[in-house]
Amino acid sequence: MIDLRSDTVTKPTEEMRKAMVQAEVGDDVFGEDPTVNRLQEKVSSMFGMESGLFVPSGVMSNQLALKLLCSAGDEVLIDYKGHIFNYETAAASLISSVQLNPLRGTKGKLTPDLIKEAMRSGQDWEPKPSVIVLENATNKGGGTCYSESDLRVMSNTAKELGLSVHLDGARLWNAMTATQTAPEFYGTVADTITVSFSKGLGAPVGSMLLSSRKRIDKARRFRKMLGGGMRQVGMLAAAADYAIKHHLPLLKEDHRRAKELAYTISNCRKLAIDPDTVETNIVIFEVNSGEVDSTLKLLEKKGIHMVPFGSNTIRATFHFEIGDSELKMVSEAMEALFD
Ligand SMILES: *Cc1c(COP(=O)(O)O)cnc(C)c1O
Repeated sequence: MIDLRSDTVTKPTEEMRKAMVQAEVGDDVFGEDPTVNRLQEKVSSMFGMESGLFVPSGVMSNQLALKLLCSAGDEVLIDYKGHIFNYETAAASLISSVQLNPLRGTKGKLTPDLIKEAMRSGQDWEPKPSVIVLENATNKGGGTCYSESDLRVMSNTAKELGLSVHLDGARLWNAMTATQTAPEFYGTVADTITVSFSKGLGAPVGSMLLSSRKRIDKARRFRKMLGGGMRQVGMLAAAADYAIKHHLPLLKEDHRRAKELAYTISNCRKLAIDPDTVETNIVIFEVNSGEVDSTLKLLEKKGIHMVPFGSNTIRATFHFEIGDSELKMVSEAMEALFD
């Protein structure tokens, strides 16, 4: 089976499993797991932040960020395709008592104009916008990235308007690779950052919240409250560390293969995509309306798995288990089926 449903389907390699077994561990609720502590220091300094907190999932990291940056009754400005708006079970309304204001960006990305238009006049009866969420790279937006100058301008806009910035970087690794951005840059444009180890990096579990020391100290308490305090979790941190060392350099290959598939798809008469919009490992293409299920079934018969992604769109996501020979099989199957 060629599994393009998500970059979360990868299994830990033998070498990664060895690193996990050999990890030095301690009780992380006491702050005594050396492997976790080293990972938190390494990743936070990598992204130009003071401190980091290892958490079970990207959702927990995003929700901790909102908890830190918002007060109850605030409003969070986010693109309508954002993960926090679509795929986090409305957790922000429960955990932080905030309202999400989904703005109509382009391919999952916001602009300073959209933010300015969403601002309010501060009347008693209005919610108070307090945070901008930027997703980089986007997921539902099709893997698109913000450039460094986009982020700089957005950060300045946020400062002018008195807003905080949360960067949902579950795929920040892909974005920094695609835009050739030094990771420490991101710490200069965001108040909080989520990065995930379990997407394209291929670790079995784990994300990290990055921010100032003061905020991360508070986040530790909230993490505990949500049941995210873990014990000898260095075994998982070791997998994340292994992934940064050995899988991060492979992401550019995923991006190249995604682009190649996009060109193949653009030549299929029954499918549509603009290959220029494919910037990272995600390929979202269109089929004729009503043909999502039948298209997926035809692919499945060839052992190729993708996911429905809207009324007439399908998503294919590349990861390190999809090499050039798998790409060739997928490309040939799609040319034969949909030309
Ligand atoms: C996957 C994803 C998350 C959530 O990560 P989980 O580990 O699945 O909870 C958050 N944001 C984006 C953009 C994602 O793609």
